[in-house]
Amino acid sequence: TQTPPPIRVRAEIDLAALRANVRSLRARAPRAALMAVVKSDGYGHGALPCARAALEAGATWIGTATPQEALALRAAGIQGRIMCWLWTPGDPWREGVEADLDMSVSALWALTEVTAAARAAGRPARIQLKADTGLGRNGCQPADWPELVAAALAAEAEGVVKVTGLWSHFACADEPGHPSIAHQLTAFREMVAYAEKEGVDPEVRHLANSPAALTLPEAHFDLVRTGVAMYGVSPSPELGTSEELGLRPVMTLAASVALVKRVPAGHGVSYGHHYITEDETTLALIPVGYGDGIPRHASGRGPVLVGGRRYSAAGRIAMDQFIVDLGGQKIDEGAEALLFGPGTRGEPTAEDWAQAADTIAYEIVTRIGKRVPRVYL
Ligand code: PLP
Repeated sequence: TQTPPPIRVRAEIDLAALRANVRSLRARAPRAALMAVVKSDGYGHGALPCARAALEAGATWIGTATPQEALALRAAGIQGRIMCWLWTPGDPWREGVEADLDMSVSALWALTEVTAAARAAGRPARIQLKADTGLGRNGCQPADWPELVAAALAAEAEGVVKVTGLWSHFACADEPGHPSIAHQLTAFREMVAYAEKEGVDPEVRHLANSPAALTLPEAHFDLVRTGVAMYGVSPSPELGTSEELGLRPVMTLAASVALVKRVPAGHGVSYGHHYITEDETTLALIPVGYGDGIPRHASGRGPVLVGGRRYSAAGRIAMDQFIVDLGGQKIDEGAEALLFGPGTRGEPTAEDWAQAADTIAYEIVTRIGKRVPRVYL
């Protein structure tokens, strides 16, 4: 625990809430191991502290998108299983082998690179074959699966790889009842069954992200890969709010009011004068903007709690600041403005900001920028 700096702007990261979310997710997927997904700097919360906290609370795998993210965690002392899934040609496969990463392979080019790296390193690479069961993004198409499986088995026979996992990713798990969910489950079972019939003997089969971990027990298999729910954020309004899902939001974004001033009626506010004061009023300057990841698209709508009352951003959100119109409320410079948090003090949530910005709450927390210090509680 650090001493909070003067408030100015800060993102408080409640690691006790993260640990509680991990325990809660494990209880909801009791037969599966839990992979804590900490890509993109832990969805903006800080990859390393979140990885450590998740492991303390019972996660047994760490997941990242890029090998660079995974290698940084290994170098920082994270032990145990770390999987990463978004490789491009020329990536540090050899470092991945030497760091004992579980490396996802979706295509023959990747198998060629990882086997070359394993031969150079003089030790087998852990690979996980990724199937495209319908997402239409990364992963091996069903038509190409037999060739990839055969090549992986040949590399395993040569002793240069160990196929540790078979896995895939959902397209629409956050839309309950979407027909693609059943299709992907069927395709996954078929592709796993084919690989196992051919002789692959994986440690883990996995398909579920947060929404599937929360709502689709039949998709849990051996492992669930949870990101957003671990950070206490609902995957989508259709699944309910974080509170309804029993999740505790981990990030609170707070700022200190930088200036309070009276202005007359008819005063334009911020670039473009999209807000004009109706009466003489008091404006408060919130020193955070799109340069910090606050979505400009939420101009006029982004919610903030100041002095115990909710306001919307008045006019445009600028790079470093925006205004709220306090009306008759009297507050002083230095008063706390809460942009989002768990909601327990009446403040908005990241989900409220997502609605105001026409986006998903994943993006709200992930985009909070480097200029905002993270303070770990
Ligand atoms: N698995 C993969 C392959 C992902 O790319 C992600 C993130 O999008 C996740 C799991 C975690 O998803 P969520 O944050 O919905 O739990």
